[in-house]
Amino acid sequence: CGIVGYVGDKQSAPILVSGLKKLEYRGYDSAGVAVINRNVLNVVRATGKLKNLESRVQTDSPQGTVGIGHTRWATHGRPSDENAHPHTYGGVAVVHNGIIENHLALKDELKRQGHVFASETDSEVFAHLISDQLKTGKDLPAAVRAAIARVKGTYALAVVTESDPTRIVCTKESSPMVLGLGEGQNFVASDVPALLEHTRDFIYMEEGDLAILTAGGVDIYNRADQKVNRATRRIDWTP
Ligand code: GLU
Repeated sequence: CGIVGYVGDKQSAPILVSGLKKLEYRGYDSAGVAVINRNVLNVVRATGKLKNLESRVQTDSPQGTVGIGHTRWATHGRPSDENAHPHTYGGVAVVHNGIIENHLALKDELKRQGHVFASETDSEVFAHLISDQLKTGKDLPAAVRAAIARVKGTYALAVVTESDPTRIVCTKESSPMVLGLGEGQNFVASDVPALLEHTRDFIYMEEGDLAILTAGGVDIYNRADQKVNRATRRIDWTP
């Protein structure tokens, strides 16, 4: 339902939770964050109100200046801590808005190959597919491309991985996703209000776009994997 991602020089977990709060109006049943500290993912999730996630984040204090967060509106799998995003597999963490229509067939195939699933969601499939692609030697953007080629459905997807801990890769198809541009820090979100306390400069991702975010910049590739320049829009309004 709601996505926020951060890469920069500040602690990411409080920024993610605060961004998710700005998206509360959209409704949700659970929430979570995944942050990377050096090469280790720290995931904190909680069912119910964002206050529950916030108090767990305060207790666990997950460290890391790169991270992704999510508020979930369940479509596949009941609301629970296990079904809350981010979903992880093999050092890959994903947050996903939308629906993977062929998730049952993909899950069956992956299970036959020995994959064990930790949730009832369609979304977890992304973590497994991307992890397998990384194992073949692809870098994270190429692994995400190869994974989405297998998926039918709608998605706004943000991905981080332990083996490449300084960037976020995101992509979208029929679900909204915006990039927020900062100085020495960059953001991704499903909607502009999540990021207005940090930046007023936004890029609206187009269908099939894949973006690579680092602290220093944002690179965007279109569906044909050609590097593209998307216009930056200055947002003047306040929600
Ligand atoms: N289909 C996914 C799930 O049920 C994502 C739902 C959402 O967009 O929040 O976990």
